[in-house]
Amino acid sequence: MSDRHSVLRSQIPRGFSVPIGTLLLIATWFGIFAGLTEGAGLLLFQRINWTQWGRLMHVSKEILWISPLVDLIFFLMVSLLVWLISRFSPRIPTIQVLVFLLTFLSIYDWLTLTNRLYHRACLILALGVAAAFLRWTAKREASSLTFWKRSTPWLVSVFLLALLVLQGGKWAHEKIAVAKLPAAPRSAPNVLVIVLDTLRADHLSSYGYFRTTSPEIDRIASQGVLFENAIAPCSWSLPSHASLLTGRAPSDHGMQNVQPMPWLGWGKNGLGGYPTLGEVLRHRGYRTGAFSANRIYFTSNVGLGRGFIHFEDYFDSVGDSFVRTVYGREFARLYLNRTEKSKATRALRYLGLESWLDKDSEGSGDFGGAYGVRKRADAVNQELLQWIDRDRQRPFFAFLNYLDVHYSYGGPRGYPKPDWDRGTTIDEYDAGLKYVDDYIGRLLRELEQRGARNTIVIITSDHGESLGAHGLSYHGAALYRELIQVPLIISYPPKIPRGLRVAVPVTITGIPATIVDLLADGEAGAFPVSSLSALWQAPKQQANWPYPVSELAQTDIIVPADRVVEGKIPIATNGWMRSLVMPRWHLITHEKFGHQLYDWTHDPKESNNLIDSPEGRATALRLASQFDAQAKTR
Ligand SMILES: [Zn+2]
Repeated sequence: MSDRHSVLRSQIPRGFSVPIGTLLLIATWFGIFAGLTEGAGLLLFQRINWTQWGRLMHVSKEILWISPLVDLIFFLMVSLLVWLISRFSPRIPTIQVLVFLLTFLSIYDWLTLTNRLYHRACLILALGVAAAFLRWTAKREASSLTFWKRSTPWLVSVFLLALLVLQGGKWAHEKIAVAKLPAAPRSAPNVLVIVLDTLRADHLSSYGYFRTTSPEIDRIASQGVLFENAIAPCSWSLPSHASLLTGRAPSDHGMQNVQPMPWLGWGKNGLGGYPTLGEVLRHRGYRTGAFSANRIYFTSNVGLGRGFIHFEDYFDSVGDSFVRTVYGREFARLYLNRTEKSKATRALRYLGLESWLDKDSEGSGDFGGAYGVRKRADAVNQELLQWIDRDRQRPFFAFLNYLDVHYSYGGPRGYPKPDWDRGTTIDEYDAGLKYVDDYIGRLLRELEQRGARNTIVIITSDHGESLGAHGLSYHGAALYRELIQVPLIISYPPKIPRGLRVAVPVTITGIPATIVDLLADGEAGAFPVSSLSALWQAPKQQANWPYPVSELAQTDIIVPADRVVEGKIPIATNGWMRSLVMPRWHLITHEKFGHQLYDWTHDPKESNNLIDSPEGRATALRLASQFDAQAKTR
């Protein structure tokens, strides 16, 4: 041993230039070690801190190779810089400087990953630990070098193994799942469900809006059936998506708020254990895939992955993967949050990193932290088409979530603004719709080119948006009409008449049963809410169609801008809410503040609460008893 040490010592005399290989070796060791620890820490902390779900930047197990890769590249760059400096100032103790810097960066990384400690405190603590570690290694430089030399190949192997197991495992898992599928009927159509997150129905031209916001969607509507009064089961993403997948009301599937993640993944747990649309279609021989731009509430992590063989949420681009690591997040906090004219923003644009500046609502950006990088309709389409191209033999079931209508509004920078866009909130909201509408058109043309004409296309949304109505700005706080009336368009020319419009209020929770019914006449599969096909097959059914119910559990995650109405109107911060939409009336009930009643046919903005008039009170009481009866029979 001592011989070896003396050899090393003679190779690297203090104060003289150190071989670059030695510096790269040390950087590799620190980079992979810091990154592996960081990846595991991010996964662990995300699980422990699940109650703060809305403010997290989320990760899945791929972070176990992405974090080491990012840290490795970063630390190698640091080592090259130290080497360069040592060329100009040969008296610098190069190895000691490098060890100090890398220890500091590793400790800062681990302290920052919870995003809970003050950055300055992390800096000071990391400096202290780095100084202590430096003193310790300085006395043992030769043995430390031997240790790094011997253990680096092992660390590199662990990193490569993580990459291979995680990426290869995912690939193999999907291959096996597809191979195990039963044969689908020869003429089975593809199923494409498109959710335009946060889209209220009255902003689509086909729903009577004064702007031409949705020419492509209107064209699809003209080829199928449009439900004029489709109602979402909740006014925010998570409960609504869970209903769209299970065909059940939020109080039934139980996903009314974020649930703690099971340590070993969701398995059959979650969603009340009920079957999902994906599972039912898998049993019919379908390849199933979800493609989500809402990386907070429509992900596999929150428990919505069951039934999907393929699920694309995080890590869709280099920028997205980068900001989910600790140093990427730090970079985003410091440089991706600047003003339009700042040097940082201009430099990033100059470098062609425009897409990194497209802020997402994911992360803690609104609270001084980092914003995620937005996933646009263009990227969702690319993911879907690549997945379809991998296997053209089987029919597919694809569930898409586009987030382009969601705050912050407006299409991506660089995409042409519509004529009407003068920059007001509503102009921008409509511009986001115009952008995603364009990309829906592009997607359908791509599918046609691939010969996938035999496709059931369903367009809907998970909830609406207040846009100033009732003093609210966003969604999830109440159940007014602008928050729950969403588009619902179903096109499937072989079985659905063209250009039909259905006026009776329906719930979009009926989508899973409708799809199964279209595939196998009269079968609802595992879904309790009625198939909507009766409404185009036998229009007389409209007379006694069940009234759509929306439910909103008590919640704390309402954004500050919407909390300001607390005490002025009933919102879900201090009690649950539910709503019942009938052909004329809309009854909204709050756990603590009682009923509100609106005549939405004459007052679609719901500005006149009739509950205090004698007829209003009588009507509300009558409807409330019907509500309870319907809830019991469900
Ligand atoms: Zn949503």
